[in-house]
Formats: sequence, C-alpha cells, structure tokens
Amino acid sequence: MAKFLLDLQDLDAAGKHLREAIPPTWLRGALEGCGIAPAGEEGLVDVHYSRSGTDLILRGKVKATVEVSCARCTVPVHVLLEAELSLMLVPASDPRGDFARGRRGGSKGGEYEFSGAEADMDVYEGDEVALDPFVREALLLEVPPFPLCSEDCRGIAPPPQEERSKIEVDPRLAPLLKLKKQGN
Ligand SMILES: [Zn+2]
Repeated sequence: MAKFLLDLQDLDAAGKHLREAIPPTWLRGALEGCGIAPAGEEGLVDVHYSRSGTDLILRGKVKATVEVSCARCTVPVHVLLEAELSLMLVPASDPRGDFARGRRGGSKGGEYEFSGAEADMDVYEGDEVALDPFVREALLLEVPPFPLCSEDCRGIAPPPQEERSKIEVDPRLAPLLKLKKQGN
C-alpha cells in the first residue's frame, strides 16, 4: 500500500498540497536492503502539485534522518537527508512517457543508481499517484557515499597483535591498514 498519495480528482492549475510525516516504519521498508536504517525520528514530505494541460507538475521537499555506518570507523552515524523533489508526470498513454518507462525498467531490482537528471520525468495513470517510489529515490540520492562520524575520524585503531585475527576489517580499509603497518 502506498503511503503518500496524490489525489488527481478535481486537480487544477492552482493545485493541491501534500504535507505528511514519514513514519520510521515506512522508511525501514523503503530503505531495506540498502544498508541504511531509519534513525527513529519522523521525516517529512511537503510538496505542491498541480495540473498543467494533461501533465502533472510537482515541486517540494522531502527529508528524513537515517542511520548509516561511518566509512572509516563503522560507528553508526545519523544523517539528515534533505531533497528537493521536482517532477513532471505525463499520462501513461503519452509518447513522451516511453523514455520514462524505459529507464524505470532498467532501474528495478533493488539497485539504487539514479542520477538527478533521470528523476525529472515519469508517467501516471488513473486518479491517484503513489509518491512513495519518488520519495524513496529522492532520499537515496542524498545518502552521502562516504559518511563520516566526524571530519577528522581516524578510522579503526589497529587492535593489539593477538586480537587482530578476530576482528573483521572492512575490505575497503585493508590497503590503508597495510600502509599504516609499513609506516610503523
Ligand atoms: Zn568514524
């Protein structure tokens, strides 16, 4: 079930507003499989949408706080994601929708490799539009690729010699640790 629905009935050029909290339970489901968890606070969807001819124009903001791991020391870090949402939705029967459909088919399967330019156009059908996938996509785009607990995080301290074998080291950090060892 979609949580964020645009109601297209009687929608005109003046438009309507959708302002709704993003519950942590929704975030958890939306971010599942991405290594990102809700931080526990409510987020917010705050958008204005209107009709322009047969198209829908939507503009607004989404925000939510998530928990990711520091890329250097792996401690949990809370990150506030704030995204601008800017969409044009064309009728599914519109030839302009072919482009949008094509790229949507290509991005299925749990991957989240979107670019900002791709998020602009999509298609709609019927009297309701579920905004959920757009909210999810906008938030994922804001997740920092290299989150840090602090700018000067020094990473995982090398453990004492005897414990070294018990500790799993993030493979991305292995070359760094090797360099550090050589420096000693
Ligand atoms: Zn850190």
